[in-house]
Amino acid sequence: MERRAIQVRGIVQGVGFRPFVHRLAARYGLSGFVRNEAGAVAIEVEGDNQTLDRFQADVRRHAPPLAQIEELRWEPRPARGDAGFRIEPSSIDSAETIRHAPDIAVCDDCLRELFDPFDRRYEHAFISCTNCGPRFTIIKAAPYDRARTTMASFPMCPLCSAEYHDPANRRYHAEPISCPACGPRLALLDALGAPLGDRDPVAAAVDALRSGRIGAVKGLGGYHLACLASEDSAVRELRRRKARDEKPLAVMVADIAAARELAVFDEREAALLASPARPIVVVRRRERAPLAESISPANRTVGLMLPYTPLHHLLLRSIAAPLVMTSGNRSDEPIAYADADALERLSGIADFFLVHDRPIEIRCDDSVTRMLDGKEATIRRSRGLAPLPIRLPFSCPRPILALGGQFKSAFALGRNRSAIVSHHIGDLDHYEAERSLADAIAHYERLFGISPDILVHDLHPDYSSTRYALNRLGPTRMAVQHHAAHAASCMAEHGLNQPVIAVVFDGTGYGLDGAVWGGEFLVGDYASFRRFAHLRYVPMPGGEQAIKEPWRMALAHLADAGRLFSPSWSEVPQSAQRFVLRLLERGFAAPVTSSAGRLFDAAAAIAGVRTRVGFEAQAAIELEAMACDTPEAGAYPFEIVPGASLVVDTRPLIAALARDVERNIETRIVARRFHTTIVEIIAEVCLIAAETAGRDVVVLSGGVFMNAIIATEAEARLRAAGLRVFRNQVIPANDGGLCLGQLAIAAACAATVES
Ligand code: ZN
Ligand code: ZN
Ligand code: FE
Repeated sequence: MERRAIQVRGIVQGVGFRPFVHRLAARYGLSGFVRNEAGAVAIEVEGDNQTLDRFQADVRRHAPPLAQIEELRWEPRPARGDAGFRIEPSSIDSAETIRHAPDIAVCDDCLRELFDPFDRRYEHAFISCTNCGPRFTIIKAAPYDRARTTMASFPMCPLCSAEYHDPANRRYHAEPISCPACGPRLALLDALGAPLGDRDPVAAAVDALRSGRIGAVKGLGGYHLACLASEDSAVRELRRRKARDEKPLAVMVADIAAARELAVFDEREAALLASPARPIVVVRRRERAPLAESISPANRTVGLMLPYTPLHHLLLRSIAAPLVMTSGNRSDEPIAYADADALERLSGIADFFLVHDRPIEIRCDDSVTRMLDGKEATIRRSRGLAPLPIRLPFSCPRPILALGGQFKSAFALGRNRSAIVSHHIGDLDHYEAERSLADAIAHYERLFGISPDILVHDLHPDYSSTRYALNRLGPTRMAVQHHAAHAASCMAEHGLNQPVIAVVFDGTGYGLDGAVWGGEFLVGDYASFRRFAHLRYVPMPGGEQAIKEPWRMALAHLADAGRLFSPSWSEVPQSAQRFVLRLLERGFAAPVTSSAGRLFDAAAAIAGVRTRVGFEAQAAIELEAMACDTPEAGAYPFEIVPGASLVVDTRPLIAALARDVERNIETRIVARRFHTTIVEIIAEVCLIAAETAGRDVVVLSGGVFMNAIIATEAEARLRAAGLRVFRNQVIPANDGGLCLGQLAIAAACAATVES
């Protein structure tokens, strides 16, 4: 007889790990115990050597679907001759990390019960088990047990309690366990928040939606606004009330088969749609999909998602039609999640509210992702994924809080080799979003027991996240340049720890020289990046205004290129154009920028695709849609000018593009040539960098790499040249990924200082 003490680390709590170990030990006839410890599951088992080996291998191989084993260690112990195998009470009191699982979509077992008229949880909108259900959005404090969740106010009935305490049951220690007798309840409220009769709330909501109404539906991390996705009038009305003019809206469909009626996608995209995180997946919309045109105007893609709460399943099965499910907010405000607040903020938008009485502890938007050339390219990492840790390529010498940027804000807490990357906080322009950032930071620090010694923020003095860092007393502060952080985010998620060439193309980021950077080639590693090359500086007439009005960037680039060609923009008054040209002549109110995003804007405006944008990158997205599937091999010229940093002279590009437009070359050809030119710029500069710096690893980051053509073609070109290429996959290439890069840079710098 031998005894082993086995320690399993990773995502092993709240995922049904102990009952699984219990069943496995019983099958092998082993004695001993299993229990939760801080951040780990501890097992002691006794049996013969061979059986113990097989048991250990099975723990790894057959772990529950949601478990992620990071490490399994064991050591011998003296045999004790226990009688049988038992699950011991937890010994978690320490402040050590407890890695909370994210919220998980309803599992197949629960789904079967949900629609089984003979099951006692038939149509129970809160059905869950150890393999599924809410986690992160209901947890108030660590460790994870019912008393510390928003389920604490629902005492279990005797039947649920028996299941909860039975190690053989699928709901053994499933903290959100409930049933119609003891669980939360649904309710339907009218536009003013008054209860609506005693009809079944789901059936009544379905009737209202069918008749073209707009409803607010309480989800896991906040409220959605819902309406029929096929009804153009309903969708347009939703846009009008929400003050959201053109940004695409997400659509929820009952299942993969329903998704296939709306979009074309492959098996990997189907797997993403059906993954337990249930993100919104951006896929290619079918030509004649039965979807309102106003869902994603001027866009070939559509964001689809599958139901993830039991309530979604009940709704979708009953209505049997795709529903717009967009975040419950007005314009760009944070999503509403607290009930009273939702009623107030969504009044005037929603005709009715489908709600329940299980509070949401923390706001958490849907995640958004897509596949680019066989690899995932996360757009927003949030519900279903946060707060899963990302493993760092090296250890944080001290606890670090990285604050991210201003837009698509997210923060990261680092300790040892883990980075806990937060859910999506959103743009920090609103006071409420700023407060949401501070609240979320406090929540994570409590939950994970981390108090940071170092705060890392962007170099931009006016970012709300920078102000948060400057106002917080105690920890050491460190500023990291925006594009270095983008580069490091990609390196960190791929575990790279060597010097690289980084191509960082985005909209705007504060540069070391005070200019607005955004078309950057960096060379170096975490602790030291050098600006190897950048796009030529051009003025941004009117500063921020030039971001909303691409025609301004078009005039700036045209003036720079010496082309006094005036595009025929009927929607831009001549007087406004003359005013901007005067600004440019005098160099007044015009910071300079090397932004790639602004170059896309300029090209889109000159080509007549778009002169004003309603949301970030809209012009570039429409230009990409034009170029997509256009067979055209041509490209525009550019020059590379030597200097302390190389400068990519974009004047020949702009001049040639304008000439094409003057000659009435088809817009999609112009768009395609422009994209090819950007790919060539990236390839050519990288090859020079590879030669001079002797590096062969390239990382591609920044929001421009959300562009499918640029991302996939740049990668292919560089690979063909023999370079190793990495793109952001699980962490967004946009500003949502900045925090991870800041964290990695701070960890590397702190390690250098301290060693
Ligand atoms: Zn389940
Ligand atoms: Zn019950
Ligand atoms: Fe950026």
